[in-house]
Amino acid sequence: MTDRDDNGPRRPGQVKEITSLANPIIKDIKALSVKKNREASGTFMAEGLKLVLDALESGWRIETLIYSKAGIGKPLVEKAASRTVAAGGLVLEVSEKVLSSVTRRDNPQMVVGIFEARWQNLFDIKPKANETWVALDRVRDPGNLGTIIRTADAAGASGVILIGETTDPFSLETVRATMGSIFTVPVARGTQYEFTKWQKSSGTNVVATHLKGAIDYRKADYRSKPVVLLMGNEQAGLPDDLAASAGTKVRIPQQGKADSLNLACATAVMLFEARRHLLTLDLA
Ligand code: SAM
Repeated sequence: MTDRDDNGPRRPGQVKEITSLANPIIKDIKALSVKKNREASGTFMAEGLKLVLDALESGWRIETLIYSKAGIGKPLVEKAASRTVAAGGLVLEVSEKVLSSVTRRDNPQMVVGIFEARWQNLFDIKPKANETWVALDRVRDPGNLGTIIRTADAAGASGVILIGETTDPFSLETVRATMGSIFTVPVARGTQYEFTKWQKSSGTNVVATHLKGAIDYRKADYRSKPVVLLMGNEQAGLPDDLAASAGTKVRIPQQGKADSLNLACATAVMLFEARRHLLTLDLA
């Protein structure tokens, strides 16, 4: 059923057609571009039909599904819509103009979902054998964070821990860069004090990456205990006290004139080295 009342009250479980940018529901959704609004509502936006369907499949709670007129009659869009209605969510059929405005893109995806954000509690993390966690100190760049979450997913890491004031994993830019991995990689957060406390009782080998690390990253022990790869901030690197609390301080040898690797690149190098013995090509 489609309800064409453009300014009517929000009625979960129905399909609403919206063409006006001034619609209050659209204004609320656009407000999710601001971190404090995402935190207040506990929700975030993810774009793309496949990504939305995968998220629904893996049990993420959808609050609102938005699709453009181009999606009308498409079986997979209808599947996403009926699952949203079944979950008590709201379905919005909107004009291209509205979708462009919501996603801030000239050529938006046909489908957008507003999902409930999920944080993993840091102190509930009890790393097991062969697990690798990535801990990021004050990561600032949403593209870096999204890329790291995606890479952690690809390398089979168990999750990402954000230390201190970091960029928001649920911002549109970060979610975009994760390419869907925001729905598969647990993300925890804590202050430096909380991380250090957790780390002491976690039974892990914390491998800190540092430009002054004395050990070649290929020589570190990634096998005897679960591993936490500790990565520094884009500008400042790891603070000395955090680096000192790690079991090992490693460096990725470099040639050429670059001072350092980009944070996401360095994390990728570390992840695939730390998990090298666990990653095999399926040649069947
Ligand atoms: N100016 C910063 C510094 O002095 O550390 C550079 C930070 S670098 C862009 C961001 C992070 O990537 C570093 O804190 C470290 O975790 C990692 N990283 C980059 N290049 C690295 C290398 N060659 N060896 C070890 N870690 C590296």
